Amino acid sequence: KFFNEIQDLKGNIRVYCRVRPFLPGQAGKNTIVESVGENGELTIANPSKPGKDAQRSFRFNKVFDLAATQANVYADIQPFVRSVVDGYNVCIFAYGQTGSGKTYTMIGPNRASGEDWGVNYRALSDLFKISQNRKSSFLYEIGVQMVEIYNEQVRDLLAAVPDAIMHTVTSTSDVLDIMDIGLNNRAVSSTAMNERSSRSHSIVTIHVRGKDLKTGALLYGNLHLVDLAGSERVDRSEVTGMELKEAQHINKSLAALGDVIFALSQKSSHVPYRNSKLTQVLQSSLGGQAKTLMFVQLNPDATSYSESMSTLKFAERVS
Ligand code: ADP
Ligand code: MG
Repeated sequence: KFFNEIQDLKGNIRVYCRVRPFLPGQAGKNTIVESVGENGELTIANPSKPGKDAQRSFRFNKVFDLAATQANVYADIQPFVRSVVDGYNVCIFAYGQTGSGKTYTMIGPNRASGEDWGVNYRALSDLFKISQNRKSSFLYEIGVQMVEIYNEQVRDLLAAVPDAIMHTVTSTSDVLDIMDIGLNNRAVSSTAMNERSSRSHSIVTIHVRGKDLKTGALLYGNLHLVDLAGSERVDRSEVTGMELKEAQHINKSLAALGDVIFALSQKSSHVPYRNSKLTQVLQSSLGGQAKTLMFVQLNPDATSYSESMSTLKFAERVS
């Protein structure tokens, strides 16, 4: 029944832009945002090069400005999330430099609760609620996986075992417990390894299996929710060893993701999924009948202008 809502969307790739507000203590900073249009237009400018020539405009499916709440954002993507119970595969990811609000959008601020919840919590509890609908003739089972990809290695955030294990969710409190275990595991390694969380991709996968009790027919859909590693370019002359290796792995995997989405947007017959762990893990929800949704995250601060431009260029290529 959610099919109609998503059927009329153009193609299978949607690109949203979200500009985070200035943080407390950043008052008086210059913003790169010139204007946000009703129809997904975003015009930015470099305050250090004022004038019409310095303006650049981009077009998205939608732009969420600093006034957008977590609930506003979820309301817009809810039809995609819910299409998973109809057997669709969906991938939602957040792209942008460190500090641009990727984790805020996908998970929420630290110790998020209720109103502050990001996409992950809302999607998982939404799907869980739908699965409990007694009026449906379907019996649903929901499983969750949470992994991190760091230096092209996949690590399970829900168990101390190498392979990602699926955890069945049977109550709303299970949903919260599972998110917390995964997030804590991610946080532990990040203090040990210099903000590793911004140098790794984290992927929450929600598997929904439905069985029609009247006909016995089976439906299967999955939702990948991805908080990508920071896209900032690292100056090769300034890092060595571990940091250089991290940066190279991140560049390679983000480029591979861009190449896959570009190939899909061009309806190319060859989609290069094999070039990174990230695109291999996400393959089932990129391409084919799958729906892909990208949040392009921007830090409004003028000092991030060139990083924001490179984020916008990544988005422009795939939209
Ligand atoms: P990233 O994951 O891209 O490195 P974060 O999500 O950690 O960035 O965001 C950086 C900071 O900005 C955090 O303190 C976060 O709580 C805050 N922040 C990000 N987006 C918003 C928003 N839309 N509203 C309020 N605060 C935000
Ligand atoms: Mg983050």
